[in-house]
Amino acid sequence: MEERGNISIHTENIFPIIKKFLYSDHEIFLRELVSNAVDATQKIKRLAAVGEYKGDLGELKVKVAVNKDDRTITISDNGIGMTAEEIKKYINQIAFSGASEFVERFKDAGENKDQIIGQFGLGFYSAFMVADRVDIVTKSYQEGAEAARWTCDGSTEFAITDAQKEDRGTDVILHIAQDSDEFLETARIRNILDKYCKFLPVPVEFEGEVINNPNPIWTKQPSDLTDEDYKNFYKELYPFSEPPLFWIHLNVDYPFNLTGILYFPKIKNEFELQRNKIQLYSRQVFITDEVKDVVPEFLMLLHGIIDSPDIPLNVSRSFLQADSSVKKINTYITKKVADKLNEIFKKDRETFEKNWDDVNVFVKYGMLSDDKFYERAKDFALLQNTEGKYYTIEEYKALVQANQTNKNEQLVMLYTTDADKQHAFVEAAQNRGYDVLKLDSMIDSHFIGLLEQKLEKTTLKRVDSETVDKLIERDETKESVLSDKEKEELKGVYEQAINNKNMTVEVTPMSPDDAPVVITLPEFMRRMKDMNRTGGGGMMFMGDMPDTYNVTINANHPLNQRVLNAGESKATVARQAFDLALLSQNMLSGAALTTFVKRSFELMTKE
Ligand code: ADP
Repeated sequence: MEERGNISIHTENIFPIIKKFLYSDHEIFLRELVSNAVDATQKIKRLAAVGEYKGDLGELKVKVAVNKDDRTITISDNGIGMTAEEIKKYINQIAFSGASEFVERFKDAGENKDQIIGQFGLGFYSAFMVADRVDIVTKSYQEGAEAARWTCDGSTEFAITDAQKEDRGTDVILHIAQDSDEFLETARIRNILDKYCKFLPVPVEFEGEVINNPNPIWTKQPSDLTDEDYKNFYKELYPFSEPPLFWIHLNVDYPFNLTGILYFPKIKNEFELQRNKIQLYSRQVFITDEVKDVVPEFLMLLHGIIDSPDIPLNVSRSFLQADSSVKKINTYITKKVADKLNEIFKKDRETFEKNWDDVNVFVKYGMLSDDKFYERAKDFALLQNTEGKYYTIEEYKALVQANQTNKNEQLVMLYTTDADKQHAFVEAAQNRGYDVLKLDSMIDSHFIGLLEQKLEKTTLKRVDSETVDKLIERDETKESVLSDKEKEELKGVYEQAINNKNMTVEVTPMSPDDAPVVITLPEFMRRMKDMNRTGGGGMMFMGDMPDTYNVTINANHPLNQRVLNAGESKATVARQAFDLALLSQNMLSGAALTTFVKRSFELMTKE
């Protein structure tokens, strides 16, 4: 038998287009052909299972072979095979329509071209990205079927002839084009197989060895797996990573199909967050590790595998975002992740607290970016105080409520962004019996805003933003040791000694145990400046404005009585007290520090 024909097409120049535009992704031809071979073996297995095929199944597998001398790559399977009629139908018509559909989409894709390339399963015709001739030698499983050979040189013409083939199955032989020599290197082929075929469900043989794990653990039942299994699989995926903290086994079959395992990695610091660590599979075929849009942004910090035949891989990003099954998958994963964290929190709070440093960025990020996640996470999200104790938000609210004899309706949560630098303030607050939270990471500055927005009648104030009494806004006024006239004088002395427009001096009666001078930067001022710095404020003038500090002079501190009685050295003592306040806040440096040290020596010499 010999038959020649023309592949009917509307786009005459499809092959040049495929070749020209897919250069960066030529390697996917192997994924497509090996997947087809795997599908063929799965089909014969199914036929045998339903009794349609009564012959010997044999050991189902796929083989990939490179022959450098002949310049060929052969992909062989012992699957269902094809009759000559089926070749005409499946290869000449169906496969081709996939390819021409690709070109149609590609032409309209505009900016999204790259994304389409990466996600479109071009199917059988992707072979022509690397080959200038492709032969198919195949024999159908059907009784009495004759083997057939299909040959096509990438033009629209093909030939089908009789062939010699003993066994059931298909060999696809690629005659590699001159410009695709790289694919004749076995190392390159091994590399591609390793990337795309590592978890294909049928053994794939290359150079005499099976290169894949046909039964990856995500395809198994969680009840059949141990912690070790999960940890080992993680090691298999990310050989150089530290062990994961915990994991979630995903398993849905309605209303969409999805399996997978998501791991919580150890996050050492916020600067090395690794996105793109989740691998997307479709029926165990690797598709991409760019899961943006399939997985909510904040979950990209997780590692692992998602396997779903329901994720449309052949469409543009913008379409993907609007796709309803993608949305459902998003919601499902978000819920599962929150449920898992909640489960660990409830079952083993100690472990949860131990791991909080590693997961907090992730949880906070989620709470900030997804309101539904906030609702789920608010019960297990933890706040840590300067003593290292952990509280849920509700627990902490209760604690603050119990500690504050605040006449205002507002609860004030105090926090420090640097327990070392703000030590004097942390201590002052603690001396009054107030607790102080540690909110010192980059994400915390946003998290603080979120808490204020979500929690009713609650504000958060940095410990060094006001004097301790003002922080909590106590309603009681302290008796002043100094008269109004004396206070006025003291204010003048300090103003003169400080001599800085950006320092607003105020004299207030505090406890004699409080510091004589307290320098604070109002919370709102700092936030505005922070916002301006990060470009979110939109207040142009704030960036150029110097910090305006409040300097509170404690009218009841004995030192300030001494200032008033110091005669000629009033200004010197006041300046010394002010410098000490600056020093305790790490605000004294350079020439100012040198002057201070000199003055201190002089004062000590005088006494
Ligand atoms: P798709 O796999 O998406 O259907 P392809 O272009 O890759 O598109 O293949 C077209 C069709 O050709 C397949 O659906 C299948 O019926 C047939 N086919 C391709 N490769 C093989 C093979 N190795 N064995 C049997 N049939 C195959």
